[in-house]
Amino acid sequence: MKFSNKIILITKNRNFKIMEGRKVTGWAARDSSAILSPYSFHLRKAGPEDVLFKVLYCGVDHTDLHQLKNEIHSSTYPLVAGHEVVGEVIEVGSEVKKFNRGDIVGVGCIVGSCGECSCCKTNKEQYCNKVVPTYNAIYNDGSFTQGGFSSAMVVHQNFVVNIPENLPPEQAAPLLCAGVTAFSPLKQFINSEEPIKAGILGLGGVGHLGVLIAKAMGHHVTVISSSDKKREEALTDLGADCFLVSSNPDEISKSLNSLDYILDTVPVSHQLQNYLPLLKVEGQIFIVGAAPEPLQFGASGLILGKKTISGSFIGSIRETQEILDFWVEKGLKTMVEVVKMDYVNKAFERMEKNDVRYRFVLDVAGSDLE
Ligand code: NAP
Ligand code: ZN
Repeated sequence: MKFSNKIILITKNRNFKIMEGRKVTGWAARDSSAILSPYSFHLRKAGPEDVLFKVLYCGVDHTDLHQLKNEIHSSTYPLVAGHEVVGEVIEVGSEVKKFNRGDIVGVGCIVGSCGECSCCKTNKEQYCNKVVPTYNAIYNDGSFTQGGFSSAMVVHQNFVVNIPENLPPEQAAPLLCAGVTAFSPLKQFINSEEPIKAGILGLGGVGHLGVLIAKAMGHHVTVISSSDKKREEALTDLGADCFLVSSNPDEISKSLNSLDYILDTVPVSHQLQNYLPLLKVEGQIFIVGAAPEPLQFGASGLILGKKTISGSFIGSIRETQEILDFWVEKGLKTMVEVVKMDYVNKAFERMEKNDVRYRFVLDVAGSDLE
């Protein structure tokens, strides 16, 4: 996913000749109606540092929907989404040392960056000005990037991670975007000596992983949800300690000034000022939901209590490897619904209606795309 203006400009310039590689089949949207159907295209030509892999599974993220519907910024069509990609290596370039044919690997939201700026040099390459998102962007060689709703991909080795052996690939997929998005801002609390009280706002793909990660870090976790529908499963299946319905003033009033942080995953515009009172003094709200319209809050909601609103964009490649390893070490289980590619339009429809527990994962290899 991406939010940079620079990228918007370059994605519009597709009139140059590029070296084409292998022909593949993906599912693409042709316009902002966001209806996907089969689409053949060429991958970019693989170089010495590239990894070519067959896509096995790909998670379905709400950002895919924002981008397919042209909600965040200018999208270029045909657009093949998908940035929670797990694949099996088919071929590696002569300079690739970390991966071999047959390895199970993962790719998240970015496939390139400058490698030279301060962000790139300090393992924050997701914030590089020249970051190349996995799809809907122009790669260094002039080719247009397309995502993991496709039979195969070519990715530079620096943007490929190892999927641990004992982590099933369909379980791993959501960690490559949703998982690392929750992990990156919460990581600062890993070794906290103080007990931490966490709030997870919005219990969807990112939110359910947020609950599992926060619990595995030993936090007391409160889910803040738009309805009562997920109460039982949040408390029993996900192990949350407390569940609040955001529209219920009685429940909210009992939890005022109680949380150290809130991870805000809501994908639509909402009133932040309704949630700031839940934070303790110096509490923080991490915005990760990419609502297309502005969020609202009053200055006094921040000033009184020295509260902080900050944003966070996925995580670095290093953090992506860390969350995969953390998942295995803590024995966590992603809650996914695995479906074939011909279900993808229905999957988006259900995601939009808030009817998924909690992440769709496409069985790409099992969908016989070619
Ligand atoms: P999701 O699975 O659709 O979950 C979103 C959750 O938000 C829902 O389950 C729902 O939880 C709540 N919600 C409240 N109002 C809603 C509404 N009107 N429509 C839909 N959901 C509503 O989405 P996701 O894949 O977790 O992504 C969440 C947001 O994070 C998206 O905006 C996505 O683009 C963004 N994102 C950002 C990053 C980043 O790097 N910052 C990375 C990944 C995703 P309740 O039922 O509990 O209310
Ligand atoms: Zn850079």
